[in-house]
Amino acid sequence: MTKKHNFSAGPSILPEEVLQQASKAIINFNNINLSLIEISHRSKDFVMVMKEAKKLVRELLEIPNGYSILFLQGGASLEFHMVPMNLMKINGKAAYLNTGTWSKKAIQEAKRFGETIVVGDSSDKNFSYIPKNFEIPTDVDYFHCTSNNTIYGTQIKKFPNTSNIVACDMSSDIFSRKIDINKFDLIYAGAQKNMGPAGTTLVIVKDDILEKTGRNIPTMLDYKTHINKDSMFNTPPVFAIYVSMLTLKWLKQMGGIDQIEKNNNEKANLLYSEIDRNQLFKGTANVEDRSNMNICFLLLDKKKEVQFNKMINESGINGLNGHRSVGGYRASIYNAMQIESIKLLVDIMKKLERN
Ligand SMILES: *Cc1c(COP(=O)(O)O)cnc(C)c1O
Repeated sequence: MTKKHNFSAGPSILPEEVLQQASKAIINFNNINLSLIEISHRSKDFVMVMKEAKKLVRELLEIPNGYSILFLQGGASLEFHMVPMNLMKINGKAAYLNTGTWSKKAIQEAKRFGETIVVGDSSDKNFSYIPKNFEIPTDVDYFHCTSNNTIYGTQIKKFPNTSNIVACDMSSDIFSRKIDINKFDLIYAGAQKNMGPAGTTLVIVKDDILEKTGRNIPTMLDYKTHINKDSMFNTPPVFAIYVSMLTLKWLKQMGGIDQIEKNNNEKANLLYSEIDRNQLFKGTANVEDRSNMNICFLLLDKKKEVQFNKMINESGINGLNGHRSVGGYRASIYNAMQIESIKLLVDIMKKLERN
């Protein structure tokens, strides 16, 4: 069996060796003759997994003391709700940057808790750019942004300098590039884009921003609960955390964030260069805001679509269709994607041009 070239936006590609190890652990974990998914989450073997996963997150992102690392459930979508619930004071205010579908959903949830100001908004051009030079009022409880817009293929390259508390949805580009953790007070990311399988959400939160809302927060939705219980208040999603841990280990072994950022730049440049060179194609995102993870482009000559799709399918490329709100194509080239798969796609684009 030859594996397909998986350009899926999420759940998405994971390293081959991680899949191999994960499948082994399902049958016989750590040679204890039990499956990873049938042992107690309080057993020594699983507690070590949780410890290692947190240690790797801390190491790879160079997270200083004062921040807690949590593995929760509910996806990034539950964080849209938990962030305002835990950070917005009663009768408080929050500022949001509206850069796409996921930002919009986050804004919708914040509005349930209080005044939600949109300080920058790129909906006027179908979210093809990142708003800049916006002002964040000083009296808001926090500012929220989405670092990479998975659907529209834009990415924040420079985060605002602000004295406000900053919360960021990094679901689709966490661990893909160096970030200055000191610029953020809360980061969250659903695992299934760049870290592991669906089922767990990584949350990195600065401890001293919590317990300031005056709100009576339900136990499971209170970050403090999970901090106090080391992400083990209830049964954690053991499989998703284990596979995330393996992926982070893989990332560390290949040279960590510095190396992966280099690879990701190289991969993205290769595809963007072809999109810009080849007259048949056109990128949809503003050039300076282009994402290195999700590359959106159009095939300008609609008559060639059938042929292009056929060529893609025949070469074993999977998941290249664009999101319905942008159309065209979207190549999601997360950390685990090999440059060979992108070279293959570029070759097909060239071939289409020659025909
Ligand atoms: C996929 C995605 C989400 C939604 O994540 P779930 O874990 O499915 O809730 C949120 N934000 C961004 C940026 C995403 O890419």
